[in-house]
Amino acid sequence: MKKIPLHYQILIALIVGTFLGFLFNPGEITLADLSLTASRSETGYQVIEKYAGDQQKEYEFKDRNELVANYPELAKLFAMGELEKPVTVEVNQRSIHIVDSVKKVTLTYTRSIDQKMVVTSYSASSGEELVKKYPQWETDYFLFGTGLSQKVMVISKWLGDLFLRLLKMVTIPLIVTSLITGIASLGNATRFGAMFSKTLLYYLFTSLLAISTGILVVNLIRPGIGAELPGGSGVLSSGRESVGSIFLDMIDRLIPTNIIHSLGAGEFLSIISFSMLAGIFIILVGGKHAKVLTDFFQAGFEVMMRMTMFVISLAPIGVTAFMIYAVSSQGIEIFKTLGWYMITVSLALLIHAVVILPCLLKFVAGRSPLQFAHAMSPALMTAFSTASSNGTLPLTMTCVEENAKVSNEVSSFVLPLGATINMDGTALYEAVAVLFIAQAYTGVVMPLPDQILVAVTALLASIGAAGIPHAGLVMMAIVLQAVGLPLEAQGVIIAVDRVLDMCRTSVNVWSDSCGCAIIERYRGPAASSNST
Ligand code: ASP
Repeated sequence: MKKIPLHYQILIALIVGTFLGFLFNPGEITLADLSLTASRSETGYQVIEKYAGDQQKEYEFKDRNELVANYPELAKLFAMGELEKPVTVEVNQRSIHIVDSVKKVTLTYTRSIDQKMVVTSYSASSGEELVKKYPQWETDYFLFGTGLSQKVMVISKWLGDLFLRLLKMVTIPLIVTSLITGIASLGNATRFGAMFSKTLLYYLFTSLLAISTGILVVNLIRPGIGAELPGGSGVLSSGRESVGSIFLDMIDRLIPTNIIHSLGAGEFLSIISFSMLAGIFIILVGGKHAKVLTDFFQAGFEVMMRMTMFVISLAPIGVTAFMIYAVSSQGIEIFKTLGWYMITVSLALLIHAVVILPCLLKFVAGRSPLQFAHAMSPALMTAFSTASSNGTLPLTMTCVEENAKVSNEVSSFVLPLGATINMDGTALYEAVAVLFIAQAYTGVVMPLPDQILVAVTALLASIGAAGIPHAGLVMMAIVLQAVGLPLEAQGVIIAVDRVLDMCRTSVNVWSDSCGCAIIERYRGPAASSNST
């Protein structure tokens, strides 16, 4: 029987995974309306939850922080004073969605207060810890958080993660052998310099294009005007880092003090800079020593490529598992609240991916965008399902070299560096998300100088973000800080981050691949014949 080509296998996996994900999505759990009464007590604060039929539950908190962590909707009450008198708020249209993955339980709580939808995420490392930290969720968690759907979610996440581990296993040896072989085969160090500057120029140019597209679309659609953004408990980063310190830290990481440690810790930037230097100095040393080392790394590269092909053949399983997890773990209710925001991010990403980058492909690289996209489809679909450009790197390299016929000289250089610092999708996302938050908080469109500040910090944040799931959201803290917005605003958008992460990761990988086609065209004649 003829084997189905890999890209179709992955496509089928995407569809089957999505279908099963919907089938096992536990959906939202609707809860009864309640009224919350908060007051001072002898030991601190007391909250009484009152349900229909005169049922009630009481909780004690020793201080205000603890109270607000459990009931963020009560934070506003403190604005009126220290709760001298008991205050009551009515909370209705309540629903929760629970995601129990292997290492983390997240409960998303949606409700309406004063006719405004408010969403909060509560996370803990296990169900037990969740109910210890947030006692008010105990009954709901044990009723809804331990069913079949949750088990399917846990198993599919675990299977998907196994596939990602396999990919990560081959990534570092592949980068090292491929970069050294690629650079050594350039034959002289000047050619390396020329290629390096063209590549950086491409990264910068496309990231800025992506950010401009995002800013344009978010200003046209204005998804944040009129949207209610509550404080949430889902802050991902302490936000202590400033733009400057992140930048300096990146420069530090370019010079590893102990390369063995960097290899062990998987520090991409350090590994890339060391491998580049090794490649350059192999060229400079030349002669018989250079030959021994080039042959050695070439042999290593061939073996790693074969191993990568084997791992890639498992992609359909990994992709199915990731899709089941991604779809079953999404609450549907939240999409309604953040619908316009998601449409804005997706539309801007789409314009960048299907209009701007293909134009560059056609007019600068002289390639057919459709054929190129077809060649890259296994990598793009894997990036979509795993939300990790580092994880997808082995696939991206294979597709660029084997299917799109770009030389190893170019791909070995443009792709690993690109997976770390060239993230068009992430840069665009940072800009749109922060401007959305600003619109929601202030009710008006941000002034132009501030938007420019957002664009610059979004660029730096995307350069600093690692190619792993949710990295963009973590880095957003520096952009929010730069324009003085509260980090808590992230609390809501975390709930829909996985879907947007999947989309922006595909765009990140697509941009790196298009970069290969462009650099390939302008790299000049090959110096030697040992490129793959
Ligand atoms: N997940 C993205 C990537 O791996 C980074 C991000 O979170 O934006 O490329």
